Amino acid sequence: MNLWEELLSNFAVVAITTSLWTLTYRHLSVLRDRHQALALGLVMSAGVLAVMALPFHFREGVYLDTRYTFLALSGFFGRPWAAVLPFLTALLRRIAAGGTGLSIAVPHIFMATGFGLFGFFIRGKKIPSISSLIWLSGAVAFSGIFGFYLVLPSSIWWQLTLETVLPFAGILFGATFLAACALTQELHRHVATVENRVYRAIIEALPDCLNAKDIEGRFIVANPATAKLMGAKSAIDLHGKTDADFYSADTASEFRRTEIEMMQRAEPTRLRQNFIKTDGYETWLSTLKAPLKDKHGKLIGLITHNKDITEQHQLEVTLAETKAKLEDALASMADGLAMFDADGRLLFQNDKHTELFPLTSDLRQPGVNLREIVSASLERGEVAASDHRPEILADQITKDLLTAGNRIFPLANGRWVETRTRSSRDGGMTIVFSDITEVRRKERELSQLNAKLAAVADTDGLTGVINRRGFDRVLDSAIQDAIREEADLGLLMIDVDRFKAFNDTYGHPAGDQCLKRVAQTLEGLLSKSPGVSVARYGGEEFAVILPGMGATATLEVAHWICRAVRNLSLNHVGSEKGVVTVSVGAATWQNSKGRDIGQLLRYADEALYHAKTSGRGCVRGLNVIKAA
Ligand code: GH3
Ligand code: MG
Ligand code: MG
Repeated sequence: MNLWEELLSNFAVVAITTSLWTLTYRHLSVLRDRHQALALGLVMSAGVLAVMALPFHFREGVYLDTRYTFLALSGFFGRPWAAVLPFLTALLRRIAAGGTGLSIAVPHIFMATGFGLFGFFIRGKKIPSISSLIWLSGAVAFSGIFGFYLVLPSSIWWQLTLETVLPFAGILFGATFLAACALTQELHRHVATVENRVYRAIIEALPDCLNAKDIEGRFIVANPATAKLMGAKSAIDLHGKTDADFYSADTASEFRRTEIEMMQRAEPTRLRQNFIKTDGYETWLSTLKAPLKDKHGKLIGLITHNKDITEQHQLEVTLAETKAKLEDALASMADGLAMFDADGRLLFQNDKHTELFPLTSDLRQPGVNLREIVSASLERGEVAASDHRPEILADQITKDLLTAGNRIFPLANGRWVETRTRSSRDGGMTIVFSDITEVRRKERELSQLNAKLAAVADTDGLTGVINRRGFDRVLDSAIQDAIREEADLGLLMIDVDRFKAFNDTYGHPAGDQCLKRVAQTLEGLLSKSPGVSVARYGGEEFAVILPGMGATATLEVAHWICRAVRNLSLNHVGSEKGVVTVSVGAATWQNSKGRDIGQLLRYADEALYHAKTSGRGCVRGLNVIKAA
């Protein structure tokens, strides 16, 4: 065999070994990197042995073969672990063969292995480029021939180059380059396979629907979620089908119309779709459609990603309905309502709130700070301002309003507003504003009415002076005052004389008139004296309370009364006096500290009794009660 034939058989071994490795490699992905490298080394060692068994016998003791290709490839593609075994195999096998060419062969072996490893460290983890393969192939060719020029005489260099070195280097270069291309291709395929597997796993596990359709609307690929949504048996089952195979004609043609529109757009488009499923349920989808193009940019279909948002849509609808109801409820509320966030900014309010504050309604908008609103309210004269400086007052009102509790404040227009502040869950405050002007007016009216009722309840209907109930109350408080102030207190008990006879003579109505005249006389005498009270004690008996009056003054008043009634000259034939007279019993407390309250009444009563027994129409029995 000539050089070409023998080297071409080497070439074939390289091709077979490389193919063997690419076929084996696909099944080795389960192994660790180091083990994969060792496997590559093993295959390459087999290649080394095979080519070394088919050498071209160049000259005495010198054999040529393509072992350098294997040595370089194993390092370049498999890292140092892969290079060890082929290197040792080549070295030992060559040493065993012996011969004069050993001194050239050994450096060649080292160099080819070295170039392969050097290339590996240069490329790192990247898939090698074509240019790096050319460099590697060149280096292998060089490592196979350089030794000849060192050991052979230069006289034969020309002939050597033409006849042996060039063909040999060409074979080495070609074998290395083609094998390296095949191994690189395999690396590409491997990376693509891994990536594909990952993408497929992601797409299949994706709960959202993802699919691609061709330009006619037929499914090219789809994930299981798409199949589930469409009601197809499996994702594969969808292949080649269209929406019309799964939806009603109307829905399918509507979807198709949208798809055609989306294909004409350059950008991906998001839209919301709804349709009635075959089971009758309305379904809502959030859909993203993007045109599918080939590598030349030509439109070949449409990619669709959609998410079933039926539940979300229903929640949105419910939320919108609830919101509308809430807004209706708030709008029809009789009170104003405003919600503020934790920073005091208005979040929400109802119409009634702005109606209550017409002068600042422009400011009562979401986002505006309560402090700003209060300031404007003071400035524009909406809220009644006190004497404080406006800024201090605005701060105070704002602070009050944003503190939980109930408050009442007047507006400058005379109306009254009650605020009820409650804290919200988010740290803000909700304030309810109620116009309580009417309530306050009614309260005032009610209390006036109560006062009137109380007065009526204490007034004697016939005479107009206070009745026994009123007397008890006034006497009680007069006694308390006297005790507290250590003051004197006078009390008169007045009884119309022979009144039974008066009634008997003139009739009961005349008796009533008589009692009225007596009461008017007492009032006329005493109404100007401060603190003095005249009361109808019961029947034809009257009582007079004289705060601050000592014994002398009290007696004097008793005499005035006696005289005044007599001077009325009301005929009374039933009386020994001939006219209406009264008997008066007087009692006084002086420095009345610590005395029994009932004692004063008893003493006055006793005194009256004495006046009666002393002939009537007179003043008697003044008992002076002195402080103990
Ligand atoms: P004395 O001088 O001892 O007080 O004799 P008197 O008749 O006034 O005393 P007596 O207690 O016996 O009678 C009181 C009378 O006063 C009896 C009663 O009919 C009459 N009277 C009591 N209240 C009224 C009233 O509101 N109107 C009239 N017209 N009479 C009354
Ligand atoms: Mg009497
Ligand atoms: Mg009487």
